[in-house]
Formats: sequence, structure tokens, C-alpha cells
Amino acid sequence: MIAPIIRTLPELRATTKPWQLADKRIGVVPTMGALHDGHLSLVAEAKKHCDHVIVTIFVNPKQFNSEEDLKNYPRTEEDDARKLERFDVDAIYVPDGPQIYPDGFSTTVSVAGLTDVMDGVHRPGHFDGVATVVTKLFTQTSATDAFFGEKDFQQLQVVTRLARDLDLGTTVHGCPTIREIDGLAMSSRNLLLSDRARVKAPALFEEMEIIAAGLTAGDPFSDLHAVAVKRLKAAGFTDIEYLDLRSADDLTTLDAPTRPARLFAAAWLVGVRLIDNIAV
Ligand code: AMP
Repeated sequence: MIAPIIRTLPELRATTKPWQLADKRIGVVPTMGALHDGHLSLVAEAKKHCDHVIVTIFVNPKQFNSEEDLKNYPRTEEDDARKLERFDVDAIYVPDGPQIYPDGFSTTVSVAGLTDVMDGVHRPGHFDGVATVVTKLFTQTSATDAFFGEKDFQQLQVVTRLARDLDLGTTVHGCPTIREIDGLAMSSRNLLLSDRARVKAPALFEEMEIIAAGLTAGDPFSDLHAVAVKRLKAAGFTDIEYLDLRSADDLTTLDAPTRPARLFAAAWLVGVRLIDNIAV
């Protein structure tokens, strides 16, 4: 069944009110659309845990650092609704701008610490934009549960933190990264890759796996890092913003996986910024 598309906050509240009164679990999957199997895995997980599921589609201007990136971001609403059909979700919330940022909007939600590294440094303001919109989406939908991908692991940490810190009453669930057959992490931005760049893109994940195997064998991270950077550059990656080994808990850097650790990468390939992370 095609789920109803809800565009305004009053409509959304009218939909969720009876669910709240009946003490139902309301699961929310926040997305920016251009849905792929990664997003759909979150929807499937939400359906397992919750009585009602809302998918939100909002290309949030506050989390983009460049006008160009915002303008080029893929928008495929009709296809998205069709892809959601088989999941029988209760509603697709596609707020127009003023539902989220009405005139005079002047509040920012900012999470300290976790946002001081990686994308927090390379995309100034990005996590404030994410934290602000996620807070609004949780409260607008009255979410008891929300589903986020480990693909954006730092974002998952930030959102988990803010839900706890602000007593939003929303439990945040992290879900594993879904990949293409060649290992490339699914991402809406992959649509922006040229055919030639698409062939090269899996190198990022491949190099991360090689580093992970080296770490398991006891090789020093600095050596593995140097080799991977060289090979990524040879493969056509231009700017490798970070390729870090960090604690999975607090994102502090590590020299070796002495506690639960992840490898994190962000790199540019022919004008497209790719990010990925794996457990080590
Ligand atoms: P986005 O539309 O890119 O803002 O992503 C919406 C949600 O989908 C976020 O929680 C992402 O982490 C998640 N997501 C994006 N790509 C993947 C993927 N390949 N596997 C699992 N989750 C993903």
C-alpha cells in the first residue's frame, strides 16, 4: 500500500495522537530521500520493533556546507514512495521548509565533544544542523524509537547522545551498513558518481579492509595508513580528509585496536565526497 504523504505538522500530530494515547511504539526513520537498500534496511528494522513506522524525507539545508552540494543533492520523492510500498509504513513525512524552520527560527542544538573530530572538523556546522533537525523530527513525530545507520557512525553517536542528554524519550537504534556487491557502502551520493568514478569507488572499502586485516596481524597502524593513502591516491582519490583509527565509544584516536575500535574514512573521488567506517 502506498503510505499517505504528510506535509504539515498539524496533519502529522493528528496522525500520531491516537497512537500516543494507545501507548503504541512509534518508530521513525529520518532520511534525506533518494532511498536505497541501506535506508530500506532501517525501515525493515523499525517495522520489527514498532507498532507504527514513519519515514521522514527532508533535505535539511542546515546540514549542508555548500550551496552547490545542497542544489545537487538527488531528489526522487515518487520513486521513494514506491520503494516504501512493500514495507507498509504508516506515513511518509515530507515537511516543507517552514514546518521545520518557521520564520524567526533561532534555536540550534549542539552536541559538544563527539563533534570535535572528523566530519565535525571537515564539515563545519554540519552536526549542529543534524542535531537540530533530528531533535525537531523526534519531537514532531513523538518517536519512541528511531533508526540510524552505522554508515554515518559519528552521526549515530551524536544522535544517541542528544536523545539521552535532552530526555527526548526516543531510543536510538544503530543498524549495520548495507553495501553494494563490490563493497561500496550504499549512499544517495553514489548517484552523483560518473561511471568511471563508480568503478574506482570500492577502493576505499578495500583499503580499509586491508588495514583492518593488518591490524589484526599486529602491523603498526602508521605503516598500514601510509600504504593505503598512497594506493588511494593512485586509484584517483584526491583529498583524503581522514583515515583514522578511533575508539568506537568516544571517537578518540588510537594507535592500535586496544579497545573496541573502528576505522573511519572520508575522501573525495572526482568531486564526490565518500565516507565509510568499519569495525576493527
Ligand atoms: P541520509 O538519507 O543519507 O541522511 O541517511 C538516512 C539514514 O540512512 C541515516 O541514518 C544513514 O546512516 C542511513 N544510511 C545511509 N546509507 C546507509 C547504508 N549504506 N547502510 C545503512 N544505513 C544507511
